[in-house]
Amino acid sequence: MAANNERSFIMVKPDGVQRGLTGEIIKRFNNRGYKLVACKLVQPSKEFMQKHYADLSSKPFFNGLVEYMSSSGPVCACSRIWENKERVPLYCKYLKARVKTFVNVVKTNPLASAPGTIRGDYCVDLGRNICHGSDAVESAKREIDLWFKPEEVITYSLIEAPMVYE
Ligand code: UDP
Ligand code: MG
Repeated sequence: MAANNERSFIMVKPDGVQRGLTGEIIKRFNNRGYKLVACKLVQPSKEFMQKHYADLSSKPFFNGLVEYMSSSGPVCACSRIWENKERVPLYCKYLKARVKTFVNVVKTNPLASAPGTIRGDYCVDLGRNICHGSDAVESAKREIDLWFKPEEVITYSLIEAPMVYE
């Protein structure tokens, strides 16, 4: 099994934590065979969330987004390794229901997300969409560095990996 060790960053947003969906969301990734390498509850400050969402700072919803992410309770920050076949774009499909083309069109709005995806199954509103996932390998790197100290990202072998990956 040739692992590519591509990492992604997933975060259960405050609405997901408050609604008791943290376990459900983590379980879905576990069930699929992804390796969890870091996980913690954090109460992020406004300044921290401004950094996390820096590329959206010119958007009209930016202030409301930062407010909701920093004032409504903790978030659960996780990093996962996609071993072998599953890559970040495919993960986007799983999280948001990617439609039309295989590569690019992702759905932020839960109402447009297909049943079977996390947003399609658990939420309704754009501004309460329970889960964040980095959208590319590069943004995942940036987000993992922002949220975790190096020693918080654990290296270990997943013993079920040969049962998941051929
Ligand atoms: N968002 C919002 N209003 C919008 C677009 C986005 O409140 O019109 C929020 C929503 O919570 C979304 C987050 O801003 O998840 C980040 O936006 P992005 O476009 O990166 O969506 P995502 O990558 O989360 O699907
Ligand atoms: Mg995004």
